Amino acid sequence: MRGPAGRFAPSPTGPLHLGSLYTALASFLDARSRGENWYVRIDDLDTPRNVDGADDEILFALEAHGLVWDGSIDRQSEHLERYTSVMTELNRLGLLYYCRCSRRTLAGLSRYPGTCRACIEPLKDSATRIVTDGTTITFEDACCGTQSVLLDRDVGDFIVQRRDGIFGYQLATAVDDGEDAITSVIRGRDLLDNTSPQLWLMKILGLGAPDYAHLPVVCDHHGTKLSKQTHAPPVQSGQALHNLRTCLMLFGFSRPPPAMAVEELLQWAVSGWDRASLPDGDVAVQSDPAGPA
Ligand code: GLU
Repeated sequence: MRGPAGRFAPSPTGPLHLGSLYTALASFLDARSRGENWYVRIDDLDTPRNVDGADDEILFALEAHGLVWDGSIDRQSEHLERYTSVMTELNRLGLLYYCRCSRRTLAGLSRYPGTCRACIEPLKDSATRIVTDGTTITFEDACCGTQSVLLDRDVGDFIVQRRDGIFGYQLATAVDDGEDAITSVIRGRDLLDNTSPQLWLMKILGLGAPDYAHLPVVCDHHGTKLSKQTHAPPVQSGQALHNLRTCLMLFGFSRPPPAMAVEELLQWAVSGWDRASLPDGDVAVQSDPAGPA
């Protein structure tokens, strides 16, 4: 059994931008401040969205910013057997059904209405959904406070395997975080709604659950969320110190002493890290997020 650990789990859909560096740095500092391991897992299941070489670019940028992980790099694409055996178990529990509803029929609905619940025999060209029930999932988020979600009402039957055979994000993340005994997940607030279904899956599968902190979203100086979709510029590894200092200021650190090398700055930040004082609203970078003005 491994000791307590945090993780950073980027999808290789583009280079690291300041918003993803912010998340990586938070989980790194949090793990190191508690003397825990910190792992990197590449979430590369969504092959149509993967970008060639993005994984190497992300890893290079993490190293250039001094964010050195423990152990070897883990990849979800190497866990297909793990997910398949979980699907067998969920099927044995009578929780799966097959759905051919088109996106068009579901447009405008906030959750799936359970139309295909009776289709329990495997069907070609169908997505596999899991039957949710009236379980309430309650958890304490270190940034967002107490969260309470009624699964069937608030989430609905979600997809665990897509029509194209790709395992769903909820399933893969719950299984990996649980099986790999991750004890702390720090990620962006845009993923907050995904946590209850993941906790529920871990519960059904008898896996231990991590604690969570969903960080505020980082916006540029126009208030636009930094993300691959909004074409946030990649972080420049040659500006590592500047980028780290920007993230630390966004966490609410006082201005770090000048003339520190990357490792020294990280050490300084580890000793001052306090999860409880993370900002609770969105944070904005004041200048061009690609580098110093
Ligand atoms: N792979 C996801 C992303 O890059 C993050 C998954 C997670 O932290 O749970 O957005």
